[in-house]
Amino acid sequence: MPQRVVCSECSNILYEGDILKSPQDIVKKFDGRCPSCGRKLSFSTKNLSIYPFEEKDDK
Ligand SMILES: [Zn+2]
Repeated sequence: MPQRVVCSECSNILYEGDILKSPQDIVKKFDGRCPSCGRKLSFSTKNLSIYPFEEKDDK
């Protein structure tokens, strides 16, 4: 199931994909800051929201 990681401050989507990445990898990718609101991202999941989402399949 696809995973989505969003900034808990501004809901900017930091990662979206089939593979569940660790918060550490995502924080590292953005140099520790949310590219949208500039909030310092924690290495814990405290400041991130990770949840599965369902892809719409309109066939
Ligand atoms: Zn943010």
